[in-house]
Amino acid sequence: MSAYRCPECGYLFDEDEGDEHEGYRPGTPFAKLPDDFACPDCSVRFKDDFEKV
Ligand SMILES: [Zn+2]
Repeated sequence: MSAYRCPECGYLFDEDEGDEHEGYRPGTPFAKLPDDFACPDCSVRFKDDFEKV
């Protein structure tokens, strides 16, 4: 699976790991995140801004 990085702060969303702190279970595809998903760390970047790594 893939990982996506916030271009602002470098926060990494890894689909294998999810982000349980934010309520996303391991194995959650990035595409399944809500359209209004905002970076949990900086809150200034949204789903469309994330870059595949
Ligand atoms: Zn960020």
